[in-house]
Amino acid sequence: MAYSEYWNPKNETLPREELQALQLLKLRRFCEWAYATTPFHQRKFDAAGFKPEQIKTLDDLRRIPFMTREEWMESLMEKPLFGDLLATDARNAIRYHLTSGTTGRTPIRVLDSMKDWDWINEMWCYGIWGFGVRPEDIVYFAFGYGSFIGFWGAHYACEKLGALVIPGGAQTTEARIKQIIELGVTTVFSTPTYALHLWQKSREMGIDLARESKVNKVILSGEPAGSIPAVKHQLEEAWGARCGDTAGMTEIGTIMIFECSHQPGGTHIIEDHFIEEVLNPNSDEPVGYGELGERIVTSFGRGFIPLIRYRTKDMVMKVPASTCTCGRTWDIYSGGIRGRWDDMKLIRGTNVYPRAVEAIIREYPAIDEFQIYIWRKEELQDEITIKLEIKTGHEAEWPDLEHKLTKDLASAHEGLRFNIERMDYGVLPHFELKAKRLVDARPVANY
Ligand SMILES: [Zn+2]
Repeated sequence: MAYSEYWNPKNETLPREELQALQLLKLRRFCEWAYATTPFHQRKFDAAGFKPEQIKTLDDLRRIPFMTREEWMESLMEKPLFGDLLATDARNAIRYHLTSGTTGRTPIRVLDSMKDWDWINEMWCYGIWGFGVRPEDIVYFAFGYGSFIGFWGAHYACEKLGALVIPGGAQTTEARIKQIIELGVTTVFSTPTYALHLWQKSREMGIDLARESKVNKVILSGEPAGSIPAVKHQLEEAWGARCGDTAGMTEIGTIMIFECSHQPGGTHIIEDHFIEEVLNPNSDEPVGYGELGERIVTSFGRGFIPLIRYRTKDMVMKVPASTCTCGRTWDIYSGGIRGRWDDMKLIRGTNVYPRAVEAIIREYPAIDEFQIYIWRKEELQDEITIKLEIKTGHEAEWPDLEHKLTKDLASAHEGLRFNIERMDYGVLPHFELKAKRLVDARPVANY
């Protein structure tokens, strides 16, 4: 059966002037509504002297004060559990979720209505249809179905577009692999780390996923790695399938960007439902196409908790829609989410971004697990060490690899010297869901 390439053909190909007119209309209405309903926004708008009727062009967006995670947290602490961010009575909610606890921070708690969930699913539909999921697909969720919002919306989106959904909840990795093969699964949803783990486990079980499974699409979310070329390449080879990146946030409830089936090396922004600004994180001035900046998101979809000019600290680079051949008029984040501004480490005067280091390490298929270890030598000098494990059968490559990797890392970091340390196999933590490969062991200054 012939399908449209787009989930929403009209909005996905809207000429940009019309798209911007739509955004302007939604922005003004959304600000009026947030001001009328949400104490958090009333307080912030008043303090900034901003009134929704000042929104006359999209540039007026910049009159609106930023919203930060810190303010959100403060509000939660003052008025548990949800702060003063709710636009409506908590009794109208049908679902509760919270951010994942991987960073050790206090989680953000969210509520959503039925209408919010319709929208959450709709956003996922844009993304997964755009990557090629169709009613004929048999989709598998390698997902825990817990309080973390994760793939919940994607699950409903697959049902909505008519695919057969297999919720692979609390099971062992082995059981999941068996189901994927036995049920003829064509599409798998997973984090990049777990997609690699599934493949490694399948090899231990003597199964070649690329040949023995029917999987032709792996849809990734939850970590930035889905757009790192070497990781993507490794996953596509391992699964014999195309891998599509998506990214969302608990603060939004769904995804705001997705990779289309043309795979332009980045992710389209769902611009009829979000305004994504890219700003210089120091000056707060907008940066142009092709420049790195911090993404600031305004989302028009979640009624329960209006999100306006939220500072994400995500590092992105916007490029025009025409970079992709799919015909969408929605701009693209080249390389997806490239990391976080607050992940940056300063080592002897050089900026080091863990994701950039990972991208280099992943160019070496002989490396299995790794860790970026930052420490202080003799209480004086900061050192960065890459601890790594070599895959069984690739040991002979070590001397050459050590030499080349040291050189590659230095040349990407203004000559900074990285120490490389080979570990015995199995010493480093092997991650199944979300990876945490950076350890900063430097002493924290005492004041
Ligand atoms: Zn495209």
